[in-house]
Amino acid sequence: MELIDIRSMTIEELTSLMDELGQPKFRAKQLFSWLQSGTPSFDEMLNIPVSLRNVLKEKCYIADVSIERRLVSEIDGTVKYLYRLYDGEYIESVLMSYNHGYTVCISTQVGCRMGCSFCASGLNGRVRNLTASEMLAQIKMAEKDNDIRVSNVVMMGMGEPLDNYDNSVRFLRLVSDDNGMNIGLRHISLSTSGVVSGIEKLAAENMPITLSISLHAPFDEMRSRMMPVNKKWNLAALVTACRKYQGVTGRRISFEYAMIKDVNDSKECADALIKLLRGIMCHVNLIPANPVVENNFKRSDDKNVNSFCEYLNSKGINTTIRRTLGADINASCGQLRNQKKRRDDGENCE
Ligand code: SAH
Ligand code: SF4
Repeated sequence: MELIDIRSMTIEELTSLMDELGQPKFRAKQLFSWLQSGTPSFDEMLNIPVSLRNVLKEKCYIADVSIERRLVSEIDGTVKYLYRLYDGEYIESVLMSYNHGYTVCISTQVGCRMGCSFCASGLNGRVRNLTASEMLAQIKMAEKDNDIRVSNVVMMGMGEPLDNYDNSVRFLRLVSDDNGMNIGLRHISLSTSGVVSGIEKLAAENMPITLSISLHAPFDEMRSRMMPVNKKWNLAALVTACRKYQGVTGRRISFEYAMIKDVNDSKECADALIKLLRGIMCHVNLIPANPVVENNFKRSDDKNVNSFCEYLNSKGINTTIRRTLGADINASCGQLRNQKKRRDDGENCE
């Protein structure tokens, strides 16, 4: 019998489960609170009768993550975690401190199958999707480990959230539930490489999250070389989906643009980007590209990033440069897991 992932269940689903087990409805809310507050075992759920705890132990498991490595930036206090999952897989999360509070960047898959050429997460493909409970556990563990409350979440770690649509949306509902972690949807960003079918579905969910699009190139040929997803949904399809999304949700869209030296940082690119985004209420985030051991991209010079930014702003596109956090601890996702994998593979060969 397959065990039930009880930490991924909504109050409604727990209510049905309690019903099946002949339990009163109010138990569902009690259980939900315990599970969402990160209680690791049924034995600690003191207001749940021992007999019910025993039944739940037989039928269910409580998903969690454990800390395999923890790196703290000496520059800005950013904490990067390598978490171990129940099946021995590894994922990464980053805890960042801003003036307005703590933000956690979570992973949504083990690996990624989108194959973007500049990214460390996709180098070895996708191993599996994360469950909603494994997404929640990343936040809760960061809170426990640092004795803090997290106020913002970005789904920008390893994996493509819209390639794991159902679990990602389930996570959004659970994390924002006021009987659980109660992190407002307006404080959550979901980043996608441009899975248009997922953007269309998401628009219909009516959730006030921030949609963030990893754009990185304003020309189809260039983007297809960097991001294979562009061969399936090109820039025209992506921008149309963004306009529709904005039409339905009224939310400003964020576009991520990693600046790579001599690839996408010319004035011609800036002009094409301005044309592409005309009429969309948006914000462009320029990211000085993070060099990855496995590829040979170089980040654009600071001077060039600054002038690209000024130029876009002068043309009416609201643009900022992302502050680099955790520069000394490889804070961009995928790199720690790859290091771990290389070490493990090396050890196996000996
Ligand atoms: N799969 C989703 C979310 C995870 S990637 C997506 O692609 O949007 C999170 C962000 O990091 C994306 O904007 C991605 O393009 C960017 N990124 C990946 N590798 C990078 C690198 N080496 N340097 C800078 N940004 C990178
Ligand atoms: Fe996957 Fe995003 Fe990396 Fe592309 S950038 S390989 S979609 S994690």
